Amino acid sequence: MPDASRLVILDRDGVINRDSDAYVKSLDEWIPYPSSIEAIARLSRAGWDVAIATNQSGIARGYYDEATLEAMHAELEKQVGDAGGEIAYIAYCPHGPDDGCSCRKPLPGLLEEIRAALGLESLAGSWMVGDSLRDLQAGEPMGCRPVLVRTGKGSKTEAQGEGLEGALIFDELAGFVDWLLDK
Ligand SMILES: [Mg+2]
Ligand SMILES: [Zn+2]
Repeated sequence: MPDASRLVILDRDGVINRDSDAYVKSLDEWIPYPSSIEAIARLSRAGWDVAIATNQSGIARGYYDEATLEAMHAELEKQVGDAGGEIAYIAYCPHGPDDGCSCRKPLPGLLEEIRAALGLESLAGSWMVGDSLRDLQAGEPMGCRPVLVRTGKGSKTEAQGEGLEGALIFDELAGFVDWLLDK
């Protein structure tokens, strides 16, 4: 039975794989950080649930389609699986900023989707890891504990310095996982 206090929710681009200002539009452009794949697998092997909440407005913008996104996520799940772990759920927002959806971060819709999919009463006490402020903002109303990583846009987010009160900051996902599993 999933337990929110043993759940880590990850942003994707800039946390698990290299971010791109030109969007990650194809499987070839989806380039994971090996240390992040290993970190996800370590969490999973230690009994944690790992879910992903990712904005994918490139779909609304017509840069790639949902089948391409599925192919990236199948590859992600394969690599994590090969490392002995699993991903409990992937929630993505395919909408653009002007679509008026309730799932595009900083709104909490993707996290609500994860909560329902995992059958949890609430996400209070779970961890939300991202490289952008909006990732952390999405987790806030759900009671998630905020973690910023410096990969992707993270260093820029840290330099802007806003909204990070109470956030833990690590160089990369693997550093957070080292800390969490050592707690
Ligand atoms: Mg990101
Ligand atoms: Zn959406």
